[in-house]
Amino acid sequence: MWAIGEKNGVSVLRSKSRQVCFILLMGIFVRFSLLLAYDWPIREDTVQHVINSTLGEWRNGHFHAGIDINAPCSTGVYAIEGDICYKDIDTLPPITIRGINIGHFRYFHVVIRDIIDDTSYVGPDSLFAKTDTADHVHLQEADRRLTAPGPSANDAIWLN
Ligand SMILES: [Zn+2]
Repeated sequence: MWAIGEKNGVSVLRSKSRQVCFILLMGIFVRFSLLLAYDWPIREDTVQHVINSTLGEWRNGHFHAGIDINAPCSTGVYAIEGDICYKDIDTLPPITIRGINIGHFRYFHVVIRDIIDDTSYVGPDSLFAKTDTADHVHLQEADRRLTAPGPSANDAIWLN
């Protein structure tokens, strides 16, 4: 083995340095991708879930501003991020709660637990709602913390 290294010393060094660079790059990539990952609002978050709709689909005069995760009615919905919540409540009758903003995320098609008031703190990974009869969770991610209710919550730009 050493004889091969001595005969072709330069090529052995290049090969070793390539291996070291590859391992370093893979380590950096894995570490960076872990920083970007976050939990899923539907359990189990380690299995695949069907996505019914994606960001940017054309919908009768507007683009769909989020993703729809398939989940039968009454499926538990968990907060991806903990923060003060802001319910998205209609201003005209019939007054209904259409969704909720928590941290960087907006959730629609959910029935929010009675114990959660507007401006309550919702902890990360906590069960805060169940899906309604639409059989999916509409999830939007903003470029900033959502610090207001409503569709134009502090001029957020939707990322997913
Ligand atoms: Zn949707």
